[in-house]
Amino acid sequence: MRSPIVAGNWKMNKTVEEAVEFVNQIKNHLPNPDVQETVLAAPTIALVPMVKAAAGTPLKIAAENCYYQDAGAFTGETSPTTLYSAGIHHVILGHSERRKLFNETDHLINLKVHAALDAGLCPIVCCDETMGRRVAGKKVHWVVSRILADLKDLKPENVDKVTIAYEPSWAIGTGESMDPDQAEEGCYLIRQTIADMYGDTIANNVRILYGGSVNSDNINQLMASQDIDGVLAGGASLDPQSFLKLVNH
Ligand code: 13P
Repeated sequence: MRSPIVAGNWKMNKTVEEAVEFVNQIKNHLPNPDVQETVLAAPTIALVPMVKAAAGTPLKIAAENCYYQDAGAFTGETSPTTLYSAGIHHVILGHSERRKLFNETDHLINLKVHAALDAGLCPIVCCDETMGRRVAGKKVHWVVSRILADLKDLKPENVDKVTIAYEPSWAIGTGESMDPDQAEEGCYLIRQTIADMYGDTIANNVRILYGGSVNSDNINQLMASQDIDGVLAGGASLDPQSFLKLVNH
C-alpha cells in the first residue's frame, strides 16, 4: 500500500519570516502522516527556520535542489549531507524549471539522485513533458527515456525512497491542468518503466505524483486515479488556506 503525498513547491517565493509564519499557521491542521504525508519545499535560506517551526508535527520540509557532491569548492551549491544534517528529508530534483533555465541534464540529475540517496534524503524527481512532444506523438519515448536516465543504476533497496513527480511543462503555472485520464496514463507509463528497470514489486512501492495547475477543484479526481499517489502543487501551495484545502482534500 502506497501512502499518498501532498507536496507544495514554493519555488523562489516568500521571505524567511513569511515561511515560518506559514508553517505556524498550518502545522496543527495536517493529516496523520501514516495516512498521508505532507511535504513543503521552500527556498534554501528558509529551510532551517521552517524545520524548527515544524518540529514535532507531521510536516516535512523539503529542499528544491541540491548538488551531487558532498563538500568542496562548489561556490553557491548546497550539499545533500548538509541538508540532511539540518533535518531535511526530501529534495526536489530535475524540476522542469531547473532543466530549462539552468540547463540541467538527465546525467546531472542522475548524479544528484545518487548523492541525495547516499546522504539519506528522499528525492522527488520531476519528469516533464512538453505539449510539442505530446502532439508529435513522442510523449512515450520522452517520459520513458527521462525515467531510464534519471533513475539509472540505483541500488534496488533505494528505489522506493524516490518519488516521481510527473509534471507536463505546459500545465505548470498556466491554470490548465492535465486531464486526469491523461495524467493517469503518464503516471502508469512511468511505473511500467520503473518495473522494467527494477521489477514489479519495487515499482509498485514507488510513489508517483502529478504536478501542473493542481488546485482544490481538481485534486480529488487526480488522486482517485490508480497510479497517481499524490500531487506536487506550485501556485496553490503559496497560501496557507489554499494549501490546507489540498492537504485535507
Ligand atoms: P503550479 O501548480 O503552479 O502549476 O506549479 C506546478 C509545479 O511546478 C510544482 O513543482
